[in-house]
Amino acid sequence: MIELAAELAGLRQAGLHRQRRLLAGPQGVRPRIDGRERLAFCSNDYLGLAAHPAVIEALRESAARDGVGSGASHLINGHHQAHEALEEALATFLGRERALLFSTGYMANLGVIQALCGRGDQILADRLNHASLLDGAQLSQARLRRYPHADTERLRALLGSSRAEGSLIVTDGVFSMDGDLAPIPALAAIANATGAVLMLDDAHGIGVLGANGRGTLEHAGFHGDEAQAAVPILIGTLGKALGTFGAFVAGSAELINFLIQRARSYIYTTALPPALASASLAALRIAAHEPERRDHLQRLINRFRAGAHTLGLALADSPTPIQPLIAGDVDTALRWSRFLEDNGFLVTAIRPPTVPQGAARLRITFSASHADADIDRLLDTLAKLPNSAPKESQ
Ligand code: PMP
Repeated sequence: MIELAAELAGLRQAGLHRQRRLLAGPQGVRPRIDGRERLAFCSNDYLGLAAHPAVIEALRESAARDGVGSGASHLINGHHQAHEALEEALATFLGRERALLFSTGYMANLGVIQALCGRGDQILADRLNHASLLDGAQLSQARLRRYPHADTERLRALLGSSRAEGSLIVTDGVFSMDGDLAPIPALAAIANATGAVLMLDDAHGIGVLGANGRGTLEHAGFHGDEAQAAVPILIGTLGKALGTFGAFVAGSAELINFLIQRARSYIYTTALPPALASASLAALRIAAHEPERRDHLQRLINRFRAGAHTLGLALADSPTPIQPLIAGDVDTALRWSRFLEDNGFLVTAIRPPTVPQGAARLRITFSASHADADIDRLLDTLAKLPNSAPKESQ
């Protein structure tokens, strides 16, 4: 077993010791932290729904009517009509036969991969996929083969020329730390040509991308049956653009029925509180019917990118609200984050192992709740970023 004191000392020494910040009041772009208001650019509340009055009211009403705890797992007696209504709405929204709620995105990825793959199968995974996809692959005991980020040539080579039934290709839709998009058309063509199945984790795309907010697939021009055929297994989360909590898998009725029988992280855990499902349903309606939130968000992203370009900041190839500024070493990332904090902002430094060694960064994210003036204030401060760093821990 790990020697705790030595391990913690090592993390501190390397600038990798993490600390949580204590938030008071609602999630939003102006959280109160340690008693002080900050202008935050690090939440995944992309549409500004986490504290939306209609979402709060749906939660309140449902809790008053349905109680708080769901009492048991879905297969015992925890499956509530609020869950069912949300599953149906998600399936309709995404043009799929069915959807299945999981308690978190992490658990959805573990459960789906472990249920679908086992010894004798192979999983092909983008090297920058979210940790939960990697953990799911390891749990499944299938052979895990990671290809360099978005490198479809390497993926094709790994699959070889023979048919690859028994192979699952797994990718983030929007890469969570870089904001760039998976090469969906190329991945779908490879899956189609080889017989492999493509699974997409669109945690950061759903609600945000596409004219209707249907995510990375809609953005890439895949709709309805074509989207289902290209990506039979679609994962989405509720805790990001939808502003609530939980996750889902969307796909064929057969897939969902199978997962209900076999996904261990679905079967052996307490169902989400029904009131959270009710709140998510309210959020989904807003996300679907208020495209102006996405339009505003897109304008903010454009404004930031244009301003950052003028400042000569190195931007990532990201069309999404995730706009990282790569610092490289941990100390510089921490110094930048601290500098922003001293100037009234909150932008967390992201360090290894969340990102690769040498790629520590500020992960700047935008929300439809930001105003143009917020972006300008951020840019004004980024213009003064110090670029070298004494060692410090955060
Ligand atoms: N997939 C991706 C790509 C993510 O970024 C995250 C959240 N960080 C998850 C899955 C996990 O979702 P949840 O927070 O609901 O567990």
